[in-house]
Amino acid sequence: MSYNNKTNPACTALGHGGKRSYERGCECPEALDAYRTFKERQREYNRKYNRDVLGKGEARYLPEDGIVDEIAVEIFMSQERKVRVTERERDLAIVGLAARGWSGASIVDHTGVSERIVANILTAPGDVA
Ligand SMILES: [Zn+2]
Repeated sequence: MSYNNKTNPACTALGHGGKRSYERGCECPEALDAYRTFKERQREYNRKYNRDVLGKGEARYLPEDGIVDEIAVEIFMSQERKVRVTERERDLAIVGLAARGWSGASIVDHTGVSERIVANILTAPGDVA
């Protein structure tokens, strides 16, 4: 798909109208629709097949033990394999991804952490790290 093939010439995002476009900053309604449709289908699939999605649901987190396992944080950031983390480690991973330029939507996609939690962390007044 060509990035030049835009149905809305006013849109300045890299890509327009689709789920990936939304993640890349397209704020047009059709992109938001595409993104929501994707997330809805993803949830449907996960419910249907009872898929164990890393980070989904607060109960999956380890009890807070006052220790930050930096390696667990790195693995959670990379998502290269499953790792259980505390909520604090999860928060650090999300802040870390944001610092590397990830958008909120792409962090939600990548980690499976809820949009609400990611938004809360990214708008918190800098007391996480
Ligand atoms: Zn757009």
